[in-house]
Amino acid sequence: MAKAARRHLGEILYKAGLVEKQALIDAIKAGQAGKKRLGDVLIEKGLIDEENLAKAIAKQFDMKYVNLDTATITPESLKLVPEDLIKKHNVLPLGLDNGRLKLAISDPVNLDAMDSVRFRTNKELDCYVANPSKIRKFVTDSLDQSRAEESDRLRHSIDATAAELAEAGHEFQAEVLKAGQVAGDDGPVVRLVNLIIDTAVNMRVSDIHIEPMADRVRVRYRLDGVCFEKDNIPKNMQAPLMTRLKILSGMNIAEKRVPQDGRIKRTIGNQDVDFRVSALPGNHGESVVLRILRPDAVNIGIKALGFESDDYDRFQKIIRRPNGIFLVTGPTGSGKTTTLYAALQELNKPDKKIITAEDPIEYSFAGMNQCQVREDIGLSFDKILRAMLRQAPNIILVGEIRDGIVADVAIQAALTGHLVFSTLHTNDAPSAITRLVDMGVKPFLVASSIQAIMAQRLVRIICKNCKTVDKDPDPLHLRLLNITPEDLKTNSIYKGAGCSQCNGMGYKGRKGIFEMVELNNEVRELAFSKAPIGELRKACIASGMRTLMEDGKLKIFRGVTTPAEIAAVAQTEGVVT
Ligand SMILES: [Zn+2]
Repeated sequence: MAKAARRHLGEILYKAGLVEKQALIDAIKAGQAGKKRLGDVLIEKGLIDEENLAKAIAKQFDMKYVNLDTATITPESLKLVPEDLIKKHNVLPLGLDNGRLKLAISDPVNLDAMDSVRFRTNKELDCYVANPSKIRKFVTDSLDQSRAEESDRLRHSIDATAAELAEAGHEFQAEVLKAGQVAGDDGPVVRLVNLIIDTAVNMRVSDIHIEPMADRVRVRYRLDGVCFEKDNIPKNMQAPLMTRLKILSGMNIAEKRVPQDGRIKRTIGNQDVDFRVSALPGNHGESVVLRILRPDAVNIGIKALGFESDDYDRFQKIIRRPNGIFLVTGPTGSGKTTTLYAALQELNKPDKKIITAEDPIEYSFAGMNQCQVREDIGLSFDKILRAMLRQAPNIILVGEIRDGIVADVAIQAALTGHLVFSTLHTNDAPSAITRLVDMGVKPFLVASSIQAIMAQRLVRIICKNCKTVDKDPDPLHLRLLNITPEDLKTNSIYKGAGCSQCNGMGYKGRKGIFEMVELNNEVRELAFSKAPIGELRKACIASGMRTLMEDGKLKIFRGVTTPAEIAAVAQTEGVVT
């Protein structure tokens, strides 16, 4: 293909008897005058057709010619070369031959086209000259067709999903899914994920569970602490669904054998919502849980936590002490973090330095120094805590006292003039004392450093919209809670009948029930002498502690919640005494 050897196109055409001599000379002159290529001029003048020109050009460049009318090309072969290159350079991949890419080109002078294709496909090329118009037509038709097929597939998959949703009684979801089909051209999986997430946020659920089963993918929401089934997604959507969730949360989509964590940030309505996402391998595939972290969930303030007025006053006093430890106890999901965040929020003023060690940091507060525990790099609670003390804080939050080491450092901090907030996994307040001793903390340190302990649980509160007197409360619940016929003479029991505002649950939102004890001398002495839990508990009650169950009863009689809610907490947590 050396330039010197290249014959003149006019000569080839003339020798083939395709143009007259004079016409050719005129065309060459016209081309020179208009700075046009001879072939283009001849086509314009109608002196030659594109097919013959392509043949002549092939001959001129000593290349092969291909007739696209008779060549066997499949739309699949288009995928051999990126679409942008195909369109930009008007080339058409014809197929692979021994690892070499057969490529129809419209212009052998366009070396850039061939270099780009060679580079992007990493394949050696066998180039064929073809009629440029036919290349363009074939490319356009094929791409149109594959788009039509794609959108067809999409529509079918949406219709099928919508039909299954409707059949399973989720008419609303089915409608939304179909409506989304018109609104945008995102894939059905993208819309499905958006739907799952947005619905959850709008319903104010706390977490979303996406769980593959043998024959379907179950979607459950947790609302006010109770899980319920929201949707079932066809099994064939499982793989794309999981992939989409993993992409969104920044997980490795190829890794399916080990648990992974991720995060999604999304703007829903006018608020930014964070999701903590975890994937866990299971026998039917990975299950994914999205925990919804709502900034407004912690900005509720101390008033909204659910304290009775005397406890509210005590709480306000405790969190303003200059030093000592304030422990909040309860099982996972009992609202301990929310309570402590509400306290920190209130104390977060420019004159106070607040440092936290958390695992994880659930919400970011302006003006606080929050530190994430990272055990994997040795950044444990106690390490952070020791470092904190050198930063001269007023208030320290230690996310959780997990062991004796953390407890020791926290106590040391409390005894050296810091107010320390932390949590502990015990069922009731007095048990926190014995738990710390069990962890190996010296009883005199426990006795001298702890200012107050508060145990709490979250209970669902009756929907205000459908609240009604419960004339027939379950006697078992009443007996469990020591609610006597005498009590019922002066108090009514309430329930939620279920309405559209509470999704028929009869409950909407949650509040805490509490038992709060400030350590007096008697309790401190019992702690010091390692007294049994029963004695500690009696002393706490004697000092004015209202038990979780008593607090729950007050809330039942005020019509805030139901005996069933308090009984559930009391029964499972051994709160009944
Ligand atoms: Zn209601």
